[in-house]
Amino acid sequence: MRLEIKIKSPTFAPEIFNRRMSSTTKYIFVTGGVTSSLGKGIISASLGKLLQARGFTVTIQKFDPYINIDPGTLNPYEHGECYVTDDGAETDLDLGHYERFLNVRTSQANNVTTGRIYNNVITKERKGEYLGKTVQVVPHITDEIKRNIFLLGETGKYDFIITEIGGSVGDIESLPFVEAVRQVRWDLGANNAMVIHLTLIPYLKAAKELKTKPTQHSVKELLSYGIQPDILVCRTEHPLSMEIRKKLALFCNVNLNSVIEAIDADTIYDVPLLMKKEKLDERVLAKLKMTTKHEPDLEQWKIFLGKLKNPLNEVTIGLVGKYVSLPDAYKSIAEAFIHAGSQNDCKVNLKWISSEDIHKDTVETIIGSLDAVLVAPGFGERGLEGKIEAIKYVREQKIPFLGICLGMQCAVVEFARNVLHLVDASTTELNPKTKHPVIDMMEEQKKITSKGGTMRLGSYDCKIKKGSKAHHIYGDTLIQERHRHRYEFNNKYLEQMEEAGLKGTGVNPESGLIEIVELKDHPWFVGVQFHPELKSTVLSPHPLFVKFVAAAMEYKGK
Ligand code: GLN
Repeated sequence: MRLEIKIKSPTFAPEIFNRRMSSTTKYIFVTGGVTSSLGKGIISASLGKLLQARGFTVTIQKFDPYINIDPGTLNPYEHGECYVTDDGAETDLDLGHYERFLNVRTSQANNVTTGRIYNNVITKERKGEYLGKTVQVVPHITDEIKRNIFLLGETGKYDFIITEIGGSVGDIESLPFVEAVRQVRWDLGANNAMVIHLTLIPYLKAAKELKTKPTQHSVKELLSYGIQPDILVCRTEHPLSMEIRKKLALFCNVNLNSVIEAIDADTIYDVPLLMKKEKLDERVLAKLKMTTKHEPDLEQWKIFLGKLKNPLNEVTIGLVGKYVSLPDAYKSIAEAFIHAGSQNDCKVNLKWISSEDIHKDTVETIIGSLDAVLVAPGFGERGLEGKIEAIKYVREQKIPFLGICLGMQCAVVEFARNVLHLVDASTTELNPKTKHPVIDMMEEQKKITSKGGTMRLGSYDCKIKKGSKAHHIYGDTLIQERHRHRYEFNNKYLEQMEEAGLKGTGVNPESGLIEIVELKDHPWFVGVQFHPELKSTVLSPHPLFVKFVAAAMEYKGK
């Protein structure tokens, strides 16, 4: 019967449809309404966590409606941090939340933008694959969106695929995605695909009232595109009364128990438990006619939260960076400190420091009283000298230091200038004409002129020297970490640096590139060319961050 109906549909793509019907994967779409920044990523990750904790396999993907092929070319001020996956995809920071919550790796397939969809369609068109047809938003763009929606499901690895649709319903640019969701729901039927709509219930102080009208309008908008949400998740500052819930259920055509309260939480890591209390997972299972394996097992999660909320110690760590006015620019670093803090029973206060504020006269006042300093990744010359000045101070004062990517490169430059007395030493990113390019671009990189996806990206092996601090930290001699950079340690200077005390203790076995440096006569001074923060999760905090926080505690104790 469904087939008959679909044959009439101008958007029917039989091959996509048939493949779907043989799959047992259930699709959950998460849309947003009323305003952006409601936390669709956290709600998606929390639902994913609950389903996973019941023994299901889950992955989460994000569809972003902007035209960039990926966020790799975006300034961090636009969309926050660019998250990098093992396979070298430059992705939205929500993928970081998915990995941190689920402890499951994501890949390029988990993040698709409008730009990528159009790029694929236009490439096919140029190859003549549309056989003379007029290429249109419906069905060609929507079919390409659907093909991407189903890609991960086709692996057969997942019971549930949660798809977060970026932007808000009603935006011009997210329309093709919303239309694709409508079609998928129709293709698969209500037992196999469902829609959760996340909205805002604003509180009017003057009236002392929560207001449902914006949500009603947002659902109306969604209905006008042919989508009736199955569940409403309502962001609110105050608890939803039964009266409000009834009103929302009535006006938005959802069951009373499908109005889910998402009250503001102390930490994003509370949200899975809050969603469990509201029975979001139970509603999802009921709608998708799934019988649960067992109640969610959140024991480990609760231990993490218990330690996070009841710290026995406290340290203050400086994060020196260029984009500190937007903490989202360093999302994964901030989260890695939360994981590492909990592991150490220690509250980590992050002090965000703009590297441009640091110079000879201010360095002591700004970082003198900190328990440790992290110098952040970054691009371009602005603030670089401030980073170098900060590193000189922590090296001399023996304050624990972790340099990540550009932070590690600055540590190398600082060492070259102030210990090796190569006065002019620099990274060629800052000074292309330096006599001592201790950090330089690799030959292959020099030929590349186009910007997107052209850095050294994704997971690379790193061999660790036995007996080094890195060896002690990782407890291993072969690790994999993720990269995102163009410049590298210049091996011409390695011998000189090592003789003077800055050791290369992690090396990529294929290229010989230095991935980790550490200082000999210093309690804790480590620079890494890769991004450890990207692999830290709630259930598996990153050892570098765990040990760095421990070093800060020790330094403070002295
Ligand atoms: N700008 C530096 C490079 O491209 C560092 C990049 C980073 O910190 N992610 O090598």
